Formats: sequence, structure tokens, C-alpha cells
Amino acid sequence: PLVLGIESSCDDTAAAVLRDREILSNVVMGQAELHAAYGGVVPEIAARAHAEKVDLCVEQALEGAGVSLGEIDAIAVTAGPGLIGGVLAGVMCGKGLSAATGIPLVGVNHLAGHALTPRLTEGLEFPYLMLLVSGGHCQFLRVDGPESFTRMGGTIDDAPGEAFDKTARLLGLPQPGGPHVERAAERGNAGRFPLPRPLLDRPGCDMSFSGLKTALLRARDGMVAAKGGLTETDRADLCAAFQSAVTAILAEKSRRALEAAPDVTGFAVAGGVAANGAVRAALTGIAEARNVAFVAPPLALCTDNAAMIAYAGAERLKAGKTDDLDLPARPRWPLDTRSPALLGSGR
Ligand code: ATP
Ligand code: FE
Repeated sequence: PLVLGIESSCDDTAAAVLRDREILSNVVMGQAELHAAYGGVVPEIAARAHAEKVDLCVEQALEGAGVSLGEIDAIAVTAGPGLIGGVLAGVMCGKGLSAATGIPLVGVNHLAGHALTPRLTEGLEFPYLMLLVSGGHCQFLRVDGPESFTRMGGTIDDAPGEAFDKTARLLGLPQPGGPHVERAAERGNAGRFPLPRPLLDRPGCDMSFSGLKTALLRARDGMVAAKGGLTETDRADLCAAFQSAVTAILAEKSRRALEAAPDVTGFAVAGGVAANGAVRAALTGIAEARNVAFVAPPLALCTDNAAMIAYAGAERLKAGKTDDLDLPARPRWPLDTRSPALLGSGR
């Protein structure tokens, strides 16, 4: 089917058109410059920008795909979880288009969009294991169907992307910190500062990253006190120590998650941190050791986009599921509805 997707749950306004698994257009309008001065996403500013941009975004997506609204079979829109003002802007746009044209509306869980992306890009078959690892999320999901997700564990505090960003801030590197920390780490000696690996000795797939940042802060302050500042080498060594600790945690917990899901056919990652070369290499090794395919979708489809929303909508449509005009916008919406009291699942 021909599906229009709309995404506005965080700081990217996005629209895309898919014909089955073919991406006809994929428009993403970021808001980074609007939030840059505040050191984080400001919900009110985000909501206003989504409301202002979403119509234009949809127009560009249709134009880019070379289709008219009348040809569209379904309108898929992110209905949560996320910043409520932004989610509302997208949901209202989707409802308006649906009401005006009679085209069916399909509400999509943003996290389901991320989790189903390996099916869009690689046609990965169920069941598979998914590691969602971004600026705001870190969780293992067992994916058995388009609406069947089991959360196997996740961070109990910070998400790794957030930890990369804080590390960069601590060491005076630019934001977003991940790529800068990775570059510095390439020249560093990871063994010079032994950082903790929290929860590694505990069973299960839960992870913790906030202790790393504290240990890093202490190591940095120790050096500053001893010699008045950091050299390039110190900085590189701290970055290498941090990256190697994060990599070790993600790798070991991935190994355990795969052990707990022996029947999966693949191991997929999504989220900005999946761009990290050291992390990717470690996870590839873990998947190979268990003889499952490792899938890392192209970065533009790992981070927030509407193609994944259109695809998740198409899967719901295929299952015969559409929504009415009373579709709610939800700030929280756990994927795994069997464990609603989720700790540290991000939003
Ligand atoms: P979410 O999608 O959970 O709402 P987000 O929009 O912040 O959060 P993404 O856009 O998926 O997440 O990823 C951004 C994060 O990925 C940032 O924290 C960034 O530092 C991190 N990141 C990007 N590239 C790298 C890299 N090469 N190494 C490590 N981290 C990286
Ligand atoms: Fe996201």
C-alpha cells in the first residue's frame, strides 16, 4: 500500500511516503538550532515548531514522492510516546487529513517504528532481538510481531547517548558529543583510567550508565587538581576509557539477551549510538558468536524519521487495524504492555 507517515514526538518534524517497503520520500526538519541555546529540547518551543512545520513537511513528502493525497491508502501518525505538544501537533494534522479525505488513520507507537525498522530496511523476519540505543532510550526488545514486543531489560538510569553527550561536555568537546568522543577515543589508551562497569556482575539485561559519568568527573577533577588542566592525551584517554566501558556493558548485556532468546533469527540495533564504530564492532562480534544476523539500518533510518512510522502503520494496516478520529496522543506508551511499570525505559 501507499502510506503517508507523520512523526513529531521529539525535536524532528518528519513526513514520508512509502510504497510497501520502498521509500518514495523521507523529509526530516530538525529543530536543533531552536534549542541550541538552552542545552536541551524545550517542549513548548518544540510543540510550536511542529505545529508550524508539519503541514509543509507533509506537502514536501507528497511532492517528493510524486503522489497526490488522494492516492494515499493510509495516514500513519506517531501517537506517542513523546513530548505531548509535539505528538498532538502530528496527530491533529493526521486527523485533519483523514477527516477531509476519508483516508484511514493509523496511530503508531514511535518505539514500534524504531523496532520495526530492520524489517523495512532488510526484511528481517520475526522473531528478532532489538537493541534501541539513543539519546533518550536504551532497551532490549524481543520482537515477535508488528505489535508483539517483550522488553528484556534496559537502562535503569541514563541512556548511553546522553552519557556520551555529558562526557563531551565534561571534557569541553562540542555537542552532540557522541561523534567527538568517538574521534578522541581513537587516539586514546582505554586502560589508563579503569572506569566501573555497573550491573555487569548482576544477572539479567538491565544496564546502568550514570556511574560512569561520576567516575569520569572524579578522574578529570583529580588531574585538574594535580596539574592544573587536561592535555590532549588525557582527554583522549578519558574518552577511550568511557567508550570502552559503554561498549563492554552493551556487548555483555547483548550476549545475555541473545542467550535468553535462543530462537531469534537476527540482532538489530537502532538509535544514534548505533553509529559508534566500537559499539557496532562489539555487537557484530556478539551476533556472530551466536550465529545470528547483525542488522544496523542506515543512520538516517536509525534516528527519528517518518519512514519508520509509515512502515509500522503499513504493518498495522495489513493486520486490519485502523484508528478513529478519537485516537489519543499519549506522552507515555510502553511497547510491552505486560510490564507497564517500566523503570528507565526512557519516556
Ligand atoms: P530519542 O530518539 O531516544 O528520542 P535522540 O533523538 O537524542 O533520542 P538519536 O537521534 O537516535 O537520539 O541519537 C542521538 C544520540 O546519539 C546523541 O546522544 C549522540 O551523542 C549519540 N551519537 C551519535 N553518534 C554517535 C557516535 N558516533 N558514538 C556515540 N554516540 C553517538
Ligand atoms: Fe526516536
